[in-house]
Order: sequence, then C-alpha cells, then structure tokens
Amino acid sequence: MNKNKREREFYSLDVGDSTFTVLKRYQNLRPIGSGAQGIVCSAYDQILERNVAIKKLSRPFQNQTHAKRAYRELVLMKCVNHKNIIGLLNVFTPQKSLEEFQDVYLVMELMDANLCQVIQMELDHERLSYLLYQMLCGIKHLHAAGIIHRDLKPSNIVVKSDCTLKILDFGLARTAATGLLMTPYVVTRYYRAPEVILGMGYQANVDIWSVGCILAEMVRHKILFPGRDYIDQWNKVIEQLGTPSQDFLMKLNQSVRTYVENRPRYAGYSFEKLFPDVLFPADSDHNKLKASQARDLLSKMLVIDASKRISVDEALQHPYINVWYDPAEVEAPPPKIPDKTLDERDHTVEEWKGETHSLSKLET
Ligand code: AMP
Repeated sequence: MNKNKREREFYSLDVGDSTFTVLKRYQNLRPIGSGAQGIVCSAYDQILERNVAIKKLSRPFQNQTHAKRAYRELVLMKCVNHKNIIGLLNVFTPQKSLEEFQDVYLVMELMDANLCQVIQMELDHERLSYLLYQMLCGIKHLHAAGIIHRDLKPSNIVVKSDCTLKILDFGLARTAATGLLMTPYVVTRYYRAPEVILGMGYQANVDIWSVGCILAEMVRHKILFPGRDYIDQWNKVIEQLGTPSQDFLMKLNQSVRTYVENRPRYAGYSFEKLFPDVLFPADSDHNKLKASQARDLLSKMLVIDASKRISVDEALQHPYINVWYDPAEVEAPPPKIPDKTLDERDHTVEEWKGETHSLSKLET
C-alpha cells in the first residue's frame, strides 16, 4: 500500500497525554482505562459492527523488558482461545516499515468494568461464586498451556454486566525479575503469593493465593494485604495469618530465612475472626452454609505454605465453586504455544521489535 493510501486508512486523536492513531474502521474512541502497559479506549468497529477495546502499548520498545512483554503478550493472546481469557480481534501499527515501527495497538473484545469496580459492590453468593469459578477456569486453561500467571490482580480481570469474566493478561514471564521497580508506574503487588514475595520456587497454585486475596477483598471491600513494599506486605500477611511453621522457614534461602525468623511472632487469627458472618451476603436460608463454604475456601486458598494450599483442580471441585462445573469450560483442550522458548529468550530491543513486527498484522 502506498503512503497516501495508508494515511487515508488511519486517523489520529488525542486521548489524555497520548495520541491514538487508529484505522478508520474504529470510531467513537473513549478512554476506559490505563495500566502499566498503556491506555485503553473503547471504540466502535464499523467492519465487525460491534464495540471493541483498543489498547495502545505505551512505548513498547523503550527497553528490553517492555519489548519482551509486548511480544509475549501478543504471541499468547494470538494463540489462547478460551471464554475466560480476553480474545484478540486485531493488531495493527500505523507505521509503515520496520524501521519506523513504534506503536502496537491491540484490539480486543470490550468488557464493561474491571474487578476493582466490582469489589465495591455487594454481590450475592451466586455472583461471587460464579466470578470465582470463571477465574479458576481461565487460570486452569493458562496452566494447561504452561503459563503460570503469578500476578493476577483485580485491575487485570474484566467483567460484563451479565457476570461473565475474562483475564486480561498473562502475568510475569518465568524469567522476569519481580523485585525492583522497572517503570515509574506503581506496580500493584498486594496479590502476589508469599513464594513470589520471598523469592522462592513456585508451582501452579501460586495463582490460587491471588484468587484468595481477590475473594477476601470482594467480601471485605478492603485490600487484604496492602503493603507499601514487600516487607510491609509480608508483615500484613503474618499479622493476620500467623507466622508460618518451621518446615516452611526451612524452604527459604538463608538470608530471607534470617529476615523472616527475626520478625516478631504472630499467632494469627481464625478465619471466623478474619471473615465474620456479617461480611458475607445475608438474607437467604442457605446463607449460613454458603458463608461457611466461602470461608472454608478462603482458609484453603490463603495458606502461606504452597505445599499445603489447595490446587486449582481442588478449588474447582470445592462445594462453593463446583455448582458451576462444566467440563467444556474447565477441561477445554490446552492452547498450543508455538514459541516454547519465549520466556527464556533474551534479545536486544531491535530483535524483539523485528519479531513483534512480523506478528503485527501490518497493513502494508
Ligand atoms: P491493562 O493496560 O491491560 O492493564 O488495562 C488497564 C485497564 O483498562 C483495565 O484495568 C480495565 O479497566 C481496562 N480494560 C483493558 N482492557 C479492557 C477490555 N478488553 N474491556 C474493558 N476494559 C478493559
């Protein structure tokens, strides 16, 4: 396509501090959110005749970390196809050559709100358990593809008013550094599991911890472990759940163990104290049972020692959740990830750019 034709295909508009340059098929752009990766707008797609969400990745090639994340996100979004994971409808860039390649726009299904907004609401047990069920289905599907998220949080989970739910991103790459701030954007760490906070090895049920924190927050309407940093966050964990046992401490590396051992000892509180009946939806005859089931699930998810924490499959079978169990959703065939070495690979920004460019459906 020649340059003039190309220019006719796109138009630009300012969205906050950013400029969106999008294909003309996308009309009526309105900002709906922003995250570490960029700004998201809703839009109307004149070709598909539906509303969509368009995310502009902010400076995806500013450094290796961003470049790898952009590429990883794109590869995974392209091949994962599950109703509880956000689907990719289109990818484009307004730049016409690899040399000029700068911006990546991801077009996704549009949802109504993120989970932060839902947390403010008083949900009944039906909705609460259905949201949890869908989170677990999405997580199980990612795990089946070998993707362990490790960074699930309410801002990365979106819902529709019919209570359907989708996970927006694919979390931390296996080799990603989780500790130091890598962007000026404040990273939310409240939902990260002890094994991530303490830099231990992890298994699939690392994601169960995050679901537990999210469920707790939906019940309490307050962040469960709000730490200013990892140290403060660890304090919040042990103050409420109690100092973990000696066999957990033995799994820590020496310097972390010394730190953890030198914290004051806490007995923690029972789950009845942490989540009393009044916090749960009231009014039906079944309530008692439902509240005690939800609390039981919380007590099995919020276990510091991952080897004693419930697994995703067990959680899906839990009485609070299994009312929704549908094998077609839970046991959907895992996606095939063509690029198996993705997480381990390191490239220069230019190399990542080249790989991302070839994946972006460029209208050249
Ligand atoms: P992200 O940059 O992916 O972290 O998204 C930032 C925010 O934009 C989310 O917390 C949502 O509020 C909103 N958002 C992102 N994608 C969508 C979508 N597909 N539908 C509705 N809202 C979205």
